[in-house]
Amino acid sequence: MRSIGRLEKGLRNNSYVGAEHARPVQAKNMKIIFLDRDGVINQFPGYGSYVTKIREFHFILGSLQAIRQLTQAGYKLFVISNQAGVGKGIYSLQKLQRIDAYMRRNVEKAGGKIHKSFYCTHRADAGCDCRKPGIGLLKKALKSLHKTIAHAQKAFFVGDSQGDIATGHRAGCKTIFVLCGRDNLRSLRQWKVKPDFIVKDLKAAAKIIEYENSGHSHNGRSRA
Ligand SMILES: [Mg+2]
Ligand SMILES: [Zn+2]
Repeated sequence: MRSIGRLEKGLRNNSYVGAEHARPVQAKNMKIIFLDRDGVINQFPGYGSYVTKIREFHFILGSLQAIRQLTQAGYKLFVISNQAGVGKGIYSLQKLQRIDAYMRRNVEKAGGKIHKSFYCTHRADAGCDCRKPGIGLLKKALKSLHKTIAHAQKAFFVGDSQGDIATGHRAGCKTIFVLCGRDNLRSLRQWKVKPDFIVKDLKAAAKIIEYENSGHSHNGRSRA
């Protein structure tokens, strides 16, 4: 697994326990994955920009394949996405729903499945609890499976931004930062909360997830 960009010791945050406490992750425990949308599944639309129509939604190369792979391996995938452009009146909720339907349709055509998508459509100043880095959407997603937020500790969060990693970390997920979207390794240096893994894209993230869940990893994270 040399291609996997596991974080080296210096980059690990203090939520990591030492190797002496590590234990292999139980595969059957970790079957939930939260995915950010823009910059993870489809191309990042640019700073301050939004995907406002289907025409502007472009799958990142390999993301459909990764979703299929994870679906076939038995994972439940949720999309967790901030879409404040709706709250700002830049595009309508209906447009967002159409884009979502387009995404799912293509995921299914490719043999994958997104179990459910959860969007926060509020503006940043609305004070809602669903906008990431809030964990309201994760709670909702888990609730739809009759699980509490405690179950997030057995899940992965894949995102392309500092906010995503902060969200996943706050909820107790294992976090995977993909470099195919908004943020890069340079911006990572400023982050207070570091991701557990850094990879090129969702395809590489899928490899990490499968590897971590295979029981081969000796870096399973646990939290008190
Ligand atoms: Mg994103
Ligand atoms: Zn919200």
